[in-house]
Amino acid sequence: MFSLTNLLRPHILSLTPYSSARDEYTGKEGIFLDANENPLGSTTTQGDYNRYPDPHQGAIKHRLAPIKGVRPEQIFLGNGSDEPIDLLVRATCTPGGQDSILIMPPTYGMYEVSAAVNDVNIIKVPLTPDFQVDTEAVLAAITDRTKLIWLCSPNNPSGNLLQADAIRTILNAASQSLVIVDEAYIDFAPTPSWTGELDNYPNLVVLQTFSKAWGLAALRLGMCFASEELIGVLNKIKPPYNISAPTQALALDALLHEEEKNQMVAQIMAERQQLAEKLRSLPTVQVIHPSDANFLLVQFADANATFAYLIDQQVIVRDRSKVKLCDGCLRISVGTTTENESLIAVLRQMPDAPLPTDLPIGTGDEATRPELVSNA
Ligand SMILES: *Cc1c(COP(=O)(O)O)cnc(C)c1O
Repeated sequence: MFSLTNLLRPHILSLTPYSSARDEYTGKEGIFLDANENPLGSTTTQGDYNRYPDPHQGAIKHRLAPIKGVRPEQIFLGNGSDEPIDLLVRATCTPGGQDSILIMPPTYGMYEVSAAVNDVNIIKVPLTPDFQVDTEAVLAAITDRTKLIWLCSPNNPSGNLLQADAIRTILNAASQSLVIVDEAYIDFAPTPSWTGELDNYPNLVVLQTFSKAWGLAALRLGMCFASEELIGVLNKIKPPYNISAPTQALALDALLHEEEKNQMVAQIMAERQQLAEKLRSLPTVQVIHPSDANFLLVQFADANATFAYLIDQQVIVRDRSKVKLCDGCLRISVGTTTENESLIAVLRQMPDAPLPTDLPIGTGDEATRPELVSNA
């Protein structure tokens, strides 16, 4: 039997949270002299921001819940996904070598960073060479001090969905841990979200974000879906006003435009297909890993030279060639049609002899390079 009480750090259980002015009086009308705000207005011509925002983002959760098929009480909103990632570690893991998290490299870097910042042990069980969960090895590595198990599906940087059977096996077996499925890229995948299983698994946590499909990376707004009990704990330990008023207003508007989001997703998925086909025709491309996300992990004959050459041509991709199981790989976000065509054109004109990879960026002797299409 899963017990959140057993999983939480003891002092979190007994913690008295900060009670904000907006918690103590929730009415909308009245003369507000309770929060030491400036009553006169704001020092910007761009709007009125002199009042503190809703600490619980009620309007967003109300609009988001039916879209995601969850109850508002199962939603936590954070300053990017980074905030719930950090709060989950701090709520459950006693530092100093006592508790641990489990990650499956190659995967998103923030799980490890958050654990390291909090001085929490990290157990690493690599994915298999085809980037799937090594279920037996994971189950063997879990201890009674393993508080969090991080699964990223679709996985960054490999781009693929993890097999549902493996996730289910871990959810069933790791009944004393939280199993977090990071679905930052779920909109680009052909499968439904794990949010549909929240009521079946009290140890399931699902992360999503407004940064990718919704096109709102600059707002910094992450979603965490879990049991009402766990969401209550995250609310208790978060900074009181963690989501700014402009972010809340813009997110509320964005949620009225889900159809535009879906259209952009369809367009990006079509572009992903085009890009993969064009990359396949290049002799320097060795492997294009199947992607359920908005990027491709691509193995090149000489990743270092290709990366440096692309930078020199002002095409910026992510070098993942030093990452476990990603030898020779660059991670390429799907761009607009024009951007993808420029990438392909630039790659087609890459000189056969690799350029020196130690050239400082931007000081290459451009005059001696072949003529290249512009990267507009
Ligand atoms: C991009 C990404 C996120 C989103 O992070 P935000 O802080 O919400 O912008 C989360 N998880 C993974 C795996 C990602 O690649």
